[in-house]
Amino acid sequence: MKVIPIPCLSDNYAYLVVCEATGHAGVVDPSEAAPVAARVEKEGVELKAILNTHHHWDHIGGNKELLKRYGGLKVYGHVSDRGRIDGQTEALETGDTFLLGKLECRAMHNPGHTSGAVSYAIEDGVFTGDTMFAAGCGRLFEGTPAMMYESLNKVIGSLPKETHVYFGHEYTENNLRFALAVEPGNRAVHEKLAQVHQMRAAGRFTTPSTLAEEWSTNPFMRCDSEEIRARVKQEDPSNDLSPAAVLGVIRRLKDNF
Ligand SMILES: [Zn+2]
Repeated sequence: MKVIPIPCLSDNYAYLVVCEATGHAGVVDPSEAAPVAARVEKEGVELKAILNTHHHWDHIGGNKELLKRYGGLKVYGHVSDRGRIDGQTEALETGDTFLLGKLECRAMHNPGHTSGAVSYAIEDGVFTGDTMFAAGCGRLFEGTPAMMYESLNKVIGSLPKETHVYFGHEYTENNLRFALAVEPGNRAVHEKLAQVHQMRAAGRFTTPSTLAEEWSTNPFMRCDSEEIRARVKQEDPSNDLSPAAVLGVIRRLKDNF
């Protein structure tokens, strides 16, 4: 598998996923068609599919034009997103698998940001859209803190620690600043922030991260951290400090960060 991040709009990432054995490719979340088509041509690959993580316009904006330009594309999305994803041809449920060339792709339903959010696990990578970011998660537009807790920590979190996490937006630097605000004693966050600051100053992408990095730096996957729990208790003295309740408070703090 070869994965090529394609920056779109102001801070979105689409990803071209190439099966090197067959030259077949799929694109995850094409916000816009032009940069994706340019990269397909440059790589000389055959675009076969669009993999949408959810229905938001900044993830499906290029679907229509790509469908016009390339015949017979399969368009994947969650079964509950039917009617919300332009050109959707395949309706996925958790555990459904399909082939992209010879690459096996597995859908993982992870509601929270939206009700029909899915991540795609392919070989040693997972494409998480707006569910998991480096050091963050998406806003809870159509789901509850409990759903997001489950999606991040149990569903995506069930993958091996060395899994590469290909996320939907370049929010890493700001997310790490927030992570530091709620867990100032976390050395891993300090170290990653310094590294990411340099990468961004040099114009480099911070994608992908790894699940190991997320377990150590992402506050939404650290709901059992004593420091984070103390911060939540200070914010909301009646909080029962269940993992979902902790996530709910830090998500609210992040919304206003
Ligand atoms: Zn979104």
